[in-house]
Amino acid sequence: MKCSDCGGKIPAGAKYCSYCGAEIKSVFEEKSMDAPSAGFALLSYLIPPAGFVFFLVWKKKYPLKAKYSGIGALIGLIAMALLLVPSMYRLWKLFF
Ligand SMILES: [Zn+2]
Repeated sequence: MKCSDCGGKIPAGAKYCSYCGAEIKSVFEEKSMDAPSAGFALLSYLIPPAGFVFFLVWKKKYPLKAKYSGIGALIGLIAMALLLVPSMYRLWKLFF
């Protein structure tokens, strides 16, 4: 991490710069937390209900992460439907 005031190197998570004493704004850190996450998109794809929960929880705080989780969940649901429909059809044909 770098101090936005003097450019000095400061440990991550520090609240004040040890060189000039300037307050370190946490805005930068919060912003860097919000990034498109392939991991969460994949998790949402595999477990769509979890993806929708991520989407709802992060919608305000981490819009990018929420978006990717939502998309992952949506694709997961579609994939699940595509897999389920043929097997349901086969089951239906078995009985009728
Ligand atoms: Zn500084």
